[in-house]
Amino acid sequence: MKVSIIGASGRVGKTTAFCISEDSSVDDLVLISRKSSNDKVEGEITDMCDALAARDIGIKHTSSSNIEDISDSKIVIITAGIPRKKQKPMSRIDLVAPNAKIVAKYSKDIAKYSQNATILVITNPVDIMTYIALKSSGFDKSRVLGLGNHLDSLRLKNRIADHFDVHISEVHTRVIGEHGDYMVPLLSSTTIGGMPIEYLSKYTSFNIDETIEQVKNAGNYVIGKKGATEYGPAYAISNVASAILKDEKKILTVSTFLEGEIEGVNDVCLGVPVKLGVKGAERIIPIKMNKQEKSLFLEAANTVKACTRNVMKKLDL
Ligand code: NAP
Repeated sequence: MKVSIIGASGRVGKTTAFCISEDSSVDDLVLISRKSSNDKVEGEITDMCDALAARDIGIKHTSSSNIEDISDSKIVIITAGIPRKKQKPMSRIDLVAPNAKIVAKYSKDIAKYSQNATILVITNPVDIMTYIALKSSGFDKSRVLGLGNHLDSLRLKNRIADHFDVHISEVHTRVIGEHGDYMVPLLSSTTIGGMPIEYLSKYTSFNIDETIEQVKNAGNYVIGKKGATEYGPAYAISNVASAILKDEKKILTVSTFLEGEIEGVNDVCLGVPVKLGVKGAERIIPIKMNKQEKSLFLEAANTVKACTRNVMKKLDL
């Protein structure tokens, strides 16, 4: 099974390459970067293969700046784009104009050279970029997904496990909406060991607002400390890729094009629970939310939709 990563010279791209190399269903990984970064990617591949040899993993890695080399990929992951910078706190929305052009161009390339691929967009602001990838590629919506809220959900899971002092595997939670300030944590359906969190005694000392702020700022916190997020996004990406490659039918939160499936929201890409399998986003799972979650979700939809329309118009996409 072949997977390609566009933007593989970047920090998210190269860490994702390493994670995905460990996926037993992948035997061919193409790392696309601009010509000036080819050398760097070749160095990364050599280093990576030395590490993989320690695990007896030997798959084909190709470094290339020739986009045609993505042909026949099952998944093409787009991580190319400008990231938020350590020097000044930025919102993901600040990246919209330059990244829209990059994502639009590569999505057209994917449609040309790898017609049957599923596109997994990582470049921020990811919900808007997913919409751009969908429109630029012309692919069916089941084959254009964005990653953001799955990572937010993992970040929330970590904080809940810490506060309630339980093993991480006992926590089931989900963040939907925008991968950004308009994210919607679904605390009403968060459970620990199968029980709603409000049934646990430590719930009384659980500071929900502070926890949500920590999740919203988790990316900027890491960027401020070490310059970029790498492991979190890479492992979250590899969860989504695995679910597709291995036809797992897992329900993960990915950004997808909505046509009224949840709260009647349409013509916008947002993070929602999706059943993932070999066909990509096989089904959006309709969910019920409490009043507050529903109102936050609608606010996210309106905000992302307005911004998406604006960028599509401005850049004539
Ligand atoms: P990075 O280390 O700066 O890497 C950026 C990558 O994009 C490099 O491969 C770079 O190639 C490429 N690139 C930059 N400008 C380009 C252009 N005009 N045309 C083609 N390629 C270009 O950034 P990063 O930390 O990996 O982050 C990459 C993107 O992922 C950012 O938009 C970031 O915000 C986003 N991100 C998303 C999530 C998520 O959960 N969705 C999480 C983390 C990061 P060169 O080496 O040739 O410059």
